[in-house]
Amino acid sequence: MTSAIWHPFTQHGLREPIPLVERAEGALLHTRGEEGEPRTVIDAISSWWVTTHGHCHPRIMAAIAEQTTKLDQLIFAGWTHEPAEQLATGLRAIMPESLTRVFFSDSGSTSVEVALKMALGYWAARAEKDGGTPRHKIIVMEHSYHGDTIGAMSVGARGVFNRTYEPLLFDVARIPYPAAGAEQATLDALEALCSAPDAAALILEPLILGSGGMLIYPPSVLAEMRAICAAHGVLFIADEVMTAWGRTGTLLACEQAGVVPDILCLSKGLTGGAVPLAVTMASEPIFEAHWSNDRARMFFHSSSYTANPIACAAANANLAIWREEPVLERVAALTAFQAERLDALGRYCHFDHPRQLGTIAALDLRSMESAGYLDSRAPRLMAFFRERDVLVRPLGNTVYVMPPYCITPGQLATVWDTIGEAVITA
Ligand SMILES: *Cc1c(COP(=O)(O)O)cnc(C)c1O
Repeated sequence: MTSAIWHPFTQHGLREPIPLVERAEGALLHTRGEEGEPRTVIDAISSWWVTTHGHCHPRIMAAIAEQTTKLDQLIFAGWTHEPAEQLATGLRAIMPESLTRVFFSDSGSTSVEVALKMALGYWAARAEKDGGTPRHKIIVMEHSYHGDTIGAMSVGARGVFNRTYEPLLFDVARIPYPAAGAEQATLDALEALCSAPDAAALILEPLILGSGGMLIYPPSVLAEMRAICAAHGVLFIADEVMTAWGRTGTLLACEQAGVVPDILCLSKGLTGGAVPLAVTMASEPIFEAHWSNDRARMFFHSSSYTANPIACAAANANLAIWREEPVLERVAALTAFQAERLDALGRYCHFDHPRQLGTIAALDLRSMESAGYLDSRAPRLMAFFRERDVLVRPLGNTVYVMPPYCITPGQLATVWDTIGEAVITA
């Protein structure tokens, strides 16, 4: 019987196999082969960048189970509950001090939509108070990815992913990716765009552009971009949906540049990757801009599952793990292990641009020409990895590893050995 499911980012016409996973723990997924025989797959990409401490982490699962006996779901407009209150307090304690307000939503894309709406709300209120027209232009970085809803696509890179929807996407201003040696061009472009009277906000992925191909840039450039925004009063939105929760070696990537954003987007690892939840944290002036005794000026955003209590309980367990366990030490050990393997493979003539930031390690398959995301080698590589029970999903000709922090040296060695073998087939 064929499945009725329409999968994301999947061309069903290619009839590629879609493995069924029965259960998971740590870095392992349990599935079955064609004969029904049990197989174990190493999840080397944290199930699309979300799983931080490992699948079915006992503390997170226990917190979810406990919460299900108390409160499942609650309207969050005008009502509140303990798991959300505890989470907001917990986030305030570990996130930058000036980010005083926590707005809940349910995915990375929505946290970005919320951030953009907050920024425009801020400028609308400012214009009303000071006179003049509200700023509305959003500045973005080339090769960025911020999600797949219309607003999030608008501020992301344009390409094969969203060409069809182009007529619906709003206009943004773009700065180039600060490639090595071309950083000044990025800073100059930002300076020019921030000087325009309609410049409202810059949104970017700090230190590493994920979906754009794991493109890394230095903390010094991030710090300079932040300073340019501050000098022009342009809001600085950090989309740390992928980079937060230790991914880049620190709790937030922004930390490495000593940068504090005006608005911060968090999702993926917020619940340890167990259940969907997102927050958009904002500084006091952004909250204050929406503060009034007029209902017509409130922040008009909500979704049914805003601050779902079970998801908040999972996030609270994640915060407890961060408080009580040596998470950053695990990240550092993982980083060191991957650095060695990357160094060894990077010298191999089939690869270009070995690069690493914290737990993320990437390299490009050398080629005459790259066809970008639709590079024909990507599906062949995916099949190769699938056959060898390793979950790796190349981005075009970029192969990367982004494992859960609990992955064992043995499992990680298998992943890197398999990558080494894969290039011979690609
Ligand atoms: C994954 C991602 C998003 C979108 O998050 P979803 O939960 O998939 O909507 C946004 N920004 C960045 C940087 C991401 O990596």
